[in-house]
Amino acid sequence: MYDGMEVALNGLGNDANYWRALGEGRLSLPKCAGCKRWVWPAPFRCSECGSWELAWQDVEMKGEVYAWTRVRHPFGGAEALGLPYVVASVALPQANGIRLFGLLEPGDDAAIGLKVTGKVRTTHAFDRDVLAISWSPVA
Ligand SMILES: [Zn+2]
Repeated sequence: MYDGMEVALNGLGNDANYWRALGEGRLSLPKCAGCKRWVWPAPFRCSECGSWELAWQDVEMKGEVYAWTRVRHPFGGAEALGLPYVVASVALPQANGIRLFGLLEPGDDAAIGLKVTGKVRTTHAFDRDVLAISWSPVA
């Protein structure tokens, strides 16, 4: 049976390496094994060359804020975050600009282009612990 919440929290399975690495405090992202292009979200098949194989590589959690928003409205399931909090889309130049969402902590200096470094944290949502990347401004 299709459970949208399970898919939202656990994905469809092709990104399992991403979650396994986060659980070990690392960031791992896929490259297409055929054309060597960074691909994200993890596809089942490369849209460029048609390869079915992905090569996962560890990537340093450093990037710059591509976009951000300060959340002031409570959303069901995310009460543990408190309010307000800042969500950022962070571009990773070392992975061809792949962008990942995460919390920006603290979010006071949120700005497009802000250099950030990430670490893995656990947040509590929908009655379970969920791995997430917390981005912080580079000192
Ligand atoms: Zn490819």
